[in-house]
Amino acid sequence: MAILLIHGGAGTIRERYRAAYAAGLRAAVDAGHVALTAPASDDAPRALRAVLAAVTSMESNPDAFNAGVGGALTRDGAVELDACVMLSGAGAGAVAGVTNTPNPVLLADLVRRATPHVLLIGAGAEALVADPVPNEALITEKSRAALELWRMGAEEQLEQPAAHGPTGSNTVGAVALDDEGHLAAATSTGGRTGQWRGRVGDAPLPGLGTYADELVAVSCTGKGEAFMEAVTAGKLAAALEAGVPLEEALRRALAGVARRGGDGGIIAVTADGQVGVAFDSPHMAYGVAAPGVDVAEVATAPFVKVLRPG
Ligand code: ASP
Repeated sequence: MAILLIHGGAGTIRERYRAAYAAGLRAAVDAGHVALTAPASDDAPRALRAVLAAVTSMESNPDAFNAGVGGALTRDGAVELDACVMLSGAGAGAVAGVTNTPNPVLLADLVRRATPHVLLIGAGAEALVADPVPNEALITEKSRAALELWRMGAEEQLEQPAAHGPTGSNTVGAVALDDEGHLAAATSTGGRTGQWRGRVGDAPLPGLGTYADELVAVSCTGKGEAFMEAVTAGKLAAALEAGVPLEEALRRALAGVARRGGDGGIIAVTADGQVGVAFDSPHMAYGVAAPGVDVAEVATAPFVKVLRPG
């Protein structure tokens, strides 16, 4: 069975951006689905090609999403991108703090394929970018406006901490199962609007924000610090391995994040073809392409859902 599941971040997605998010999700689902259902080739498993196609589509979208082009800005107005790719039986690659490419997910896959390492940061990762771009090329009006909002919120926060809400949805991700049983996961993020320079979240860290093994592929989005401390993706995989049903494992994963003061969303696909989507933030952008299922939407009320397509 071939299944693709994507997310465009969980958090607060302002109403005026929702149509652009829905269109961006649709384009990414379609791009990923084409790769997932193309003829098999020796180059790369279709699950991997599908998650890379879906994530690069969202990274390159200047109208929606806050990864790649339009990535969330640090407090001093720079874009620092993190990404991870993981493939069942073929390891992980990741980059963090990258400032010179719109598609850090492709750089993460290069680290996986072409280096003896899993994670490269900053200048070391940037040196591998074939066509570097200036950081300003990654900044959009929307990301500037989000930083302005954050600045206003941060000022308010000094007076009234409870008034400062979530800083938006800043991550994109995809998980896929292909006809040959390969599972792949990819996540790409600008981090959190207003973050310190050099801050790294859960997205590029295998087992925290991104994970794939022979049983499940997982991609997370939300307050990275809480997802890191909760070891979210790895614990979800461990729960499934111990026989916990996917729905319960997703609930436990979000509860673990909530206990550490965070919220957000998780997508997961299992080797036996179950599709899981869960979030407890105000909104989550997600999409699914599977036999009999075709979704691309911004969900506006939290849920934990498990589908068994086909
Ligand atoms: N998890 C990401 C991070 O903390 C941000 C997000 O998903 O909104 O970097």
